[in-house]
Amino acid sequence: MTIPFTQPKGLFIANRWVPGSGGSDDVINPATEEVIGSAPVGTLADAEAAIAAARQAFDTGPWPRMSRAERAAVMTAMHAGLTRRIPQLRELLIAEVGCSQHIVDAVQIGACMAHFASAIEVSLKDDSYHLPNEIVPNPMDGGATNWLGGAIVVREPVGVVSGITAYNFPFLLNLSKVVPALLAGNTLVLKPSPFTPFSALLFGEVALECGLPEGVLNVVTGGADVGAAVTTDPRVDMVSFTGSEVVGAAIMAQAAPTLKRVHLELGGKSAMIVRADADIQGAAIAAVGMLSTNCGQGCALSTRFLVHNSTRPAFVATVQAVAAGWKVGNPADPSVLLGPLIRKAQFDKVAHYVQLGLDSGATLVCGGGRPAGHDKGFFFDITVFDNVDNKSQIAQDEIFGPVGVVIGFDTDEEAIAIANDSRYGLSGGILTADAATGYQMAMKIRTGSVALNGGMAKMAFGPIGGYKRSGIGREYGPEWLKEFTNEKTVFYPLGR
Ligand code: NAD
Repeated sequence: MTIPFTQPKGLFIANRWVPGSGGSDDVINPATEEVIGSAPVGTLADAEAAIAAARQAFDTGPWPRMSRAERAAVMTAMHAGLTRRIPQLRELLIAEVGCSQHIVDAVQIGACMAHFASAIEVSLKDDSYHLPNEIVPNPMDGGATNWLGGAIVVREPVGVVSGITAYNFPFLLNLSKVVPALLAGNTLVLKPSPFTPFSALLFGEVALECGLPEGVLNVVTGGADVGAAVTTDPRVDMVSFTGSEVVGAAIMAQAAPTLKRVHLELGGKSAMIVRADADIQGAAIAAVGMLSTNCGQGCALSTRFLVHNSTRPAFVATVQAVAAGWKVGNPADPSVLLGPLIRKAQFDKVAHYVQLGLDSGATLVCGGGRPAGHDKGFFFDITVFDNVDNKSQIAQDEIFGPVGVVIGFDTDEEAIAIANDSRYGLSGGILTADAATGYQMAMKIRTGSVALNGGMAKMAFGPIGGYKRSGIGREYGPEWLKEFTNEKTVFYPLGR
């Protein structure tokens, strides 16, 4: 059976399909290790061609000069083109990422199409504003009459943007570069993860169909060499990156000599605080749900469970019971809740952290390796450690697998201090029967977002991003497009 979109016509540069000059690479389904297709591999020469196309489209093409309404019309057609492809896209994401179907529907596709729709709406609003009129003395002649001046502040696209993305939610992450960059009038070179090329290349097909002018969107596959090219080239004005902390820091350095704007969405090690008054069954299901979401490969997933010491034993026992009933397997089966990790290297990394946890003296509550009966695919059991020291590596590093740590606390202040004792600051949660106290605690947590009692409302409109080493800038929400624009002030005389 052929998985949709796994036979791309090439890389997408200047509205043409071009063969990748690096040949092609097999892409595997992480649940079966079977090849799902062969994808063209981009090289420095392809990156060069894509940057040139994006630069020309920005400097001389129609896109940055179109009205908001004209751009929104093309992007609305793109939204419609993607919407028509959702059934095939689902199939692709299940096979390309190994993500379970309920997460594919809710997050890999549902949430991002909602972000897309709300961004189109926001893009239509004129966000220019006037400054108050001002009377100033004539600087050349103090005896002359004063001058009267006004000013308008407008927003303009930054220019050529490089969008570089991670593998875990590829369609969402790619869309999170395409939508704001293009709606704001920029041109884009998109470089997806080498593990997930197909969900990026399909944008070429939709771009042609919706009438995007030549060079506005370019998709080049490849690895770190292509990523380095699109973050160092002087013709690129801005880099928007979603990926790991280490690569984020490297990209900042790569972009420094040419002083590009850098927008970074990086990793996390978020804490879920379970107060003594929280419902333990609900908390345990939330914890296992976090660890199993995309097999723990999610930047904003809470993987540190800070649990009040009075209920910690009950929480740990309930987590163990819930995890034992969680269905593992190939996500092609819609009842599966836990799919595989992306590749063997990620499996080995997670196994290494489990060993570090054991070496640190933490107590292994469940999991710890490959689940029984799943010999093919990169499956890893839901793994939970108790009696964890927050200073240990399993509590401080982003493992990016289904591994959670339980840390006890006695007071709310202590819970907040532990939550904040992290180099990351992406997300987090609080579970409590006392919403007002939970709200006050949320205000003291140094992260870009906090979910109170699992609160998810308005997700399609809320800005997301990091404090500390989790990133710089925000995605989504009413200000989303502003990350991809410059403010320009035009001063004018009203009278002299
Ligand atoms: P990664 O950092 O290894 O790779 C991300 C991308 O960067 C890939 O496309 C890769 O080819 C490219 N790259 C690698 N080296 C580069 C270089 N020197 N210059 C330019 N590009 C380079 O990340 P990953 O393993 O694909 O994804 C997992 C990471 O992504 C996790 O840390 C996760 O938390 C993070 N993530 C963050 C968010 C967020 O919104 N904050 C969302 C999803 C994933």
